[in-house]
Amino acid sequence: MRLMTSLLMIAVLTACIGRSSYSPTAGLARLCNDARIYGAQVGEVDGNGACGIGRAVTISEIAGVQLNPSATLNCRSARTLADWIENDAKRALRGTGGRLESMRVFASYACRSRNSQPGARMSEHALGNAIDIGEFVLNNGTVLNVERDWGNGNAGAALERLHASACGPFGTVLGPLSDRFHYNHIHFDTADNRSSSYCR
Ligand SMILES: [Zn+2]
Repeated sequence: MRLMTSLLMIAVLTACIGRSSYSPTAGLARLCNDARIYGAQVGEVDGNGACGIGRAVTISEIAGVQLNPSATLNCRSARTLADWIENDAKRALRGTGGRLESMRVFASYACRSRNSQPGARMSEHALGNAIDIGEFVLNNGTVLNVERDWGNGNAGAALERLHASACGPFGTVLGPLSDRFHYNHIHFDTADNRSSSYCR
């Protein structure tokens, strides 16, 4: 009987410990020494000088938001993204009746020039500083699609608030009003624009 009690105690304790460390991201590694960032450790991405990331991470979930597909960034940009989701995006979505659940990633790390134009400067994507988001999905079923909803009604207004809220936390924010390359996504990057952010 005493043995049974002991075994039961151990089972209960194990269950409690298991629960306290439970995460919806079970099986994924915690990244960048940040309890908000989960996915896979990548390490060095060697881009032959022009591109690359010293310590890259591929993020599946950040600040409770799923990334579809997962995005490869450096840790500084990952933390900026987590801060923006937690603070600014949350505020921007107030009034929509929903909370950000997932984001559709159109691009993250890519060794290419700006907008993939020959002869253009290297993109912030080439350094792991940038992420392109085409769609924001809320937990109440609302889908904010940049291509479809920008400039239209409540969804368009929510997208504009998201865009504006990222200006400051990110060094550059480019939406459909910036140029023809951004008609279907918002580009966020952590480039250091010295005195102020560049947002269009
Ligand atoms: Zn971009």
